[in-house]
Amino acid sequence: MTDATQNQWAMRDPLTQYARPPFPRQPMDAPGTTDQMTPAPNHGETSYKGLGRMEGRKALITGGDSGIGRATAIAYMREGAEVAINYLQEEASDVEGLKKLFEAEGKTLHTFPGDLTEEGFCTSLVKDAAGALGGLDVLVINAGKQTAQESIFDITTEQFDRTYKTNCYAMFWLAKAAIPLMPKGAAIITTTSIQGSKPSANLLDYASTKWAIIGFTKSLAKQMTERGIRVNGVAPGPVWTPLQPSGGQPQDVIENFGDEVPYGRPAQPAELAPAYVYLATQESGYVTGEVIGVTGGNPTA
Ligand code: NAD
Ligand code: MG
Repeated sequence: MTDATQNQWAMRDPLTQYARPPFPRQPMDAPGTTDQMTPAPNHGETSYKGLGRMEGRKALITGGDSGIGRATAIAYMREGAEVAINYLQEEASDVEGLKKLFEAEGKTLHTFPGDLTEEGFCTSLVKDAAGALGGLDVLVINAGKQTAQESIFDITTEQFDRTYKTNCYAMFWLAKAAIPLMPKGAAIITTTSIQGSKPSANLLDYASTKWAIIGFTKSLAKQMTERGIRVNGVAPGPVWTPLQPSGGQPQDVIENFGDEVPYGRPAQPAELAPAYVYLATQESGYVTGEVIGVTGGNPTA
């Protein structure tokens, strides 16, 4: 496990850097919360050190309460950005903890609860967040819905609709609202998955949204070139977040979560945040229409 005194650059064996399965069963209702997870996920709380790479940048992160979004929020804040997050009301306990972490470092976390499956909410979220931040330079489209089902016959229209609304429609609505507010040099970052290129049988609806996100990212990147806005995606492999034990996978998969990838363990959210930092900063100025895989040795292509 991570030595709290080490920063993200300390050289370590990646196979043993973080927890390996087996993990205890831990069923919880969706969307799930961090405090129900054993072991506790690592979001870089004690390890992420910023270098001022996002000084003054204004960033909105959906699903910023937990998991990958939470690690990204912490990293952006430590890099000097002003951060706003969106989340569901049921996740207020996660947001309280994150708010306290920001406050302890003299920073403000701007918080906007609400359901992204509604177009009107997506539009007002972008407007309100940009108002609170004083602009919008980075949009991280990260919120996601994943519900494992063995068979196509177990997937209801309601589930299919909610998965597509959360993962795809919201992405379209958020980007559409954000682009007119974004200056040259701004960045949109989507969140796809290894599932987008290597789909599991039990994630039919989810995997197909993640494939769609890749196409959306590459097409929008071409449209945005003239505006000077870069659009890229991150494709995580298995990551230790509430998404998975709250119905994202059955509990027998949770017990062995991550054992199918060459590393034999899941990523911790802290291992994803640096990709989101890279894609948000000018260091990636020549990068657009790309998807960065962070997969523990399971290539996306
Ligand atoms: P997470 O549960 O911590 O984050 C997902 C967030 O989505 C939730 O916190 C919630 O706030 C938000 N959300 C869900 N439905 C919403 C709705 N209707 N309105 C508003 N917000 C909603 O899990 P995570 O793993 O950090 O997920 C972040 C992203 O990473 C997702 O897009 C997910 O598909 C992707 N991803 C995760 C994994 C993994 O193994 N955990 C792997 C590949 C990709
Ligand atoms: Mg959450």
